[in-house]
Amino acid sequence: MPLCQRAESSCGACCGLYNRADHSREALQELLDRRTDRVRAAPRTAAGFAEAAADLARQGDGEPLFPTVRICPLLGWLDESRTRVGCLAHPAVCGQDLRDQGAYDAGICETFLCPSHGHFSVEEADLVGAVCGADPYLYGLTVTDVDFVRACLRAVAQLCGDEVRARHLAHAPFRAALRRLFQLKEELAPGSDGLYGAFRPGVDGEPVDRQIDYQALARPRSPHDLILRCIGADPRSGNDLDAIEETLGRRLDGCVEAFPAPGPSARPAPYPPAPYPE
Ligand code: SF4
Ligand code: SF4
Repeated sequence: MPLCQRAESSCGACCGLYNRADHSREALQELLDRRTDRVRAAPRTAAGFAEAAADLARQGDGEPLFPTVRICPLLGWLDESRTRVGCLAHPAVCGQDLRDQGAYDAGICETFLCPSHGHFSVEEADLVGAVCGADPYLYGLTVTDVDFVRACLRAVAQLCGDEVRARHLAHAPFRAALRRLFQLKEELAPGSDGLYGAFRPGVDGEPVDRQIDYQALARPRSPHDLILRCIGADPRSGNDLDAIEETLGRRLDGCVEAFPAPGPSARPAPYPPAPYPE
């Protein structure tokens, strides 16, 4: 089940796309524009791509959030309308395999699959693709965070009394409401590392589990703790926990309001109604 390039959606997360302090949509758009222009102007040779990669590296991408994760300068836009992100050095893109000039080598690039490939079911992956559509920024953030997607779908299912299915996404208002829920990933405080899921960089740059210290905050654990951890709603990561939890509640309400009326084939919800199990 390929998650990287789907009919509509595309992802560049493992090539280091989000691995920088400013990983806002606008900053990444500018970065991908700049790389695409430089790499497309290069001769389609190993020397040409090596020079383009070196040029882009000299321009600097800012400090990586995770120093142990490489940032490849050969990730850019594959299409003229600049909605599909991908490898500019892939043989299907430039006619020959020039991935050795990137941050890894062609063998690693060819064989690497992120953990989402081993965890998402086909139906879950289709749901993520249908919700994010041709938006590589949101798709890359969500398709790499299995816990976040599952926690969101579980919360919606519990509130709506029915498991979220592909047929529900055919209802545009519900699809839009679910997209607003997923977009919590985009609305973190500037510089927040929450978009990397329920972990944060440790002292050695390796990921460590993120926990919200409710005791220190003198408040009970949220029923949506996993979603909050996945979006980095920990005050220590620079986010306002109360504000994000309130927004999360409103987005979930929006999903309930937009959930299509059950049809004759609707099945009972597969999850217990309460409490929210995490
Ligand atoms: S992070 Fe996963 S889905 Fe995204 S491009 Fe890499 S392997 Fe593919
Ligand atoms: S060369 Fe490898 S790391 Fe660089 S963009 Fe292509 S696939 Fe990603």
